[in-house]
Amino acid sequence: MSVAGTLEVTDKLRVRRAAQRKERRFRLYAYSLGLGAALATAWNVALAQDLLKREILPVVVFSLFIGFAWYFSFSIFPRASLSISLDMAYLMTALCVLPHPLPITVACGGAVLGCGLRARDPRARQNPFLQVLSLNTGGLVIAAVVGQWLSVALERYWRFDVLTWGTVLCVVALFVAYNVTNVAIMVVAMLLKGEPVIPHLASYVRFLSSLEVFTMPLGLGLALLYGGIGLWGFLPLAATILLASGLLKKLHRARTELTDTNEQLQDRSRELRILNTIGREISTSLDPEVVFAQVSKHLGRILDAPHLFLSLYHKLPQESYTEYVARDGVVQPRPERSLGEGFTSWVVETRRPLLVQDMAIDRDSIQCAPVILDSSIRSIMAAPLVFSGQAIGVLCVESPRPQAYTVDHLSVFTIIAQQAAIALENARNFQLATVDQLTRLYLRDFFFRKLEEEQVRTRRYGSTFTVLMLDLDSFKEINDRLGHLAGDRYLQRLGEVIRETMRAADVPCRYGGEEFCILLPETDLTGATRIAERIRRRVARLEVLLGQDIMRTTISVGIAAYPADYPGSIPGFLEKADRALYAAKQAGRDRVVASPPAHRDTARRSR
Ligand code: GH3
Ligand code: MG
Ligand code: MG
Repeated sequence: MSVAGTLEVTDKLRVRRAAQRKERRFRLYAYSLGLGAALATAWNVALAQDLLKREILPVVVFSLFIGFAWYFSFSIFPRASLSISLDMAYLMTALCVLPHPLPITVACGGAVLGCGLRARDPRARQNPFLQVLSLNTGGLVIAAVVGQWLSVALERYWRFDVLTWGTVLCVVALFVAYNVTNVAIMVVAMLLKGEPVIPHLASYVRFLSSLEVFTMPLGLGLALLYGGIGLWGFLPLAATILLASGLLKKLHRARTELTDTNEQLQDRSRELRILNTIGREISTSLDPEVVFAQVSKHLGRILDAPHLFLSLYHKLPQESYTEYVARDGVVQPRPERSLGEGFTSWVVETRRPLLVQDMAIDRDSIQCAPVILDSSIRSIMAAPLVFSGQAIGVLCVESPRPQAYTVDHLSVFTIIAQQAAIALENARNFQLATVDQLTRLYLRDFFFRKLEEEQVRTRRYGSTFTVLMLDLDSFKEINDRLGHLAGDRYLQRLGEVIRETMRAADVPCRYGGEEFCILLPETDLTGATRIAERIRRRVARLEVLLGQDIMRTTISVGIAAYPADYPGSIPGFLEKADRALYAAKQAGRDRVVASPPAHRDTARRSR
């Protein structure tokens, strides 16, 4: 391992250890609070056994209300992390009307019941129960203890059988004390966990007015009802409020689910729109590189796809891959990747997709050994390009971000790969139908189609085009001396030479065995002669090695210009070019001859 690698591992270890230390400290804090609450309650129960026996009904009723109110905590803001719980209104009432130390018992009982009920919620199951119980019981019991101190301090005003300013003051003081205790416990917990305190506090203060303030009039009303009429006066309103909070919780859950479903639907609809666009755009292209560029552009809109590549598998003439690569949306030159290396071959062979969510974690459990060129890659998603049951290649995205791709992404990605497979197979079939596999020059049918199009264009715009007709000189000798396969090798190289000499708009074609035709649009006789000469000279210099043997020959070229040499049908026009070629052969080969136009009848030698 390199020095940089070792440093990275040491850093990761240090970070992990620090996180474990924080976690331990937080656990200790939570358990201490829980233990403190349990001891305080036990102590008070032991001290006031007779009182507890006498007042057991209100203690149980208040505990039940606090427990259920906490369970029914709801939120009025979509996705807000803060929720409203009415437990405080009930605890405040208990503090106002029950004798000491019953509110502490009520707080403890309510917190235990609330935690027990909440633990049934599947979303709460990921939190360790004992920690949650300790922290919340501790918090509520401390609030009750602080409330009891306040009742002693405000003894003069502590009357709940009539409504006075003193009564209101007591409720406000309880509200402030409860919130301060709550925030203090929360801040200490966050500091121990190493979480940012300020943003959480800011959002608490921002939402406080809308969240908890109304528990003050609620607590006051309930306390006055209890103080005036007793438990049976308090119960109907308290139960109605609890029921309402239960309904609000249900409503909030339904709204959250609706929002989630709506977002998922919007995502699906966007993906479908993109799938539709990709399908429409790539099916119109017959060039694999254009297909790849379009796939790359659209994938970037639905996925984190900084690296994208497409491998096209060829079984014949020998096993190989053609690669197209895009980085940050830009199609780049193709790097060489040898066959059988990495996961490309695995995906082609098994015809199964591959999803690596985090290379750092999954490296050892991946069935194939991914060979990644870039060591910063953390997420990989690859899908086979399957056409009529055969894997013709692989489409792959990579990202330096861990967990960049999900199973949902993979299903959309696989559909895109299927669409790409159809477009690429179409492109491949088009190539097979129009391009000669030995020389990579166009076939006759395609050439005639282009010639007809060019004739129409020329007639409409009054322009001109030329055709070169080429035939290798004494090629039979090469075949006779070295064999047909050697001759094929020469023809292959000749195809490369012709393609290299052509411009993009020219249409070079393999007309027959070792005869070629080249359509030069918008080119007159002078320009065509220059191009023909260039080809002739390059062929004369061309040496193709075959073991010890060197294959070398020359080429003769006939030229005809449309419409100057023959303004009629295409076969008649090609006949002119063929005659010029014949003239070149007659004149001794290795030369370029232009067709004699109607007013010229002598062959024009260009050497
Ligand atoms: P010339 O200078 O008169 O053109 O002489 P040539 O020997 O080239 O005669 P011709 O143009 O009639 O060439 C025909 C020969 O080309 C016959 C055949 O041996 C060879 N040939 C045609 N097609 C192929 C092919 O696909 N592969 C190979 N290796 N040879 C071919
Ligand atoms: Mg020949
Ligand atoms: Mg010939």
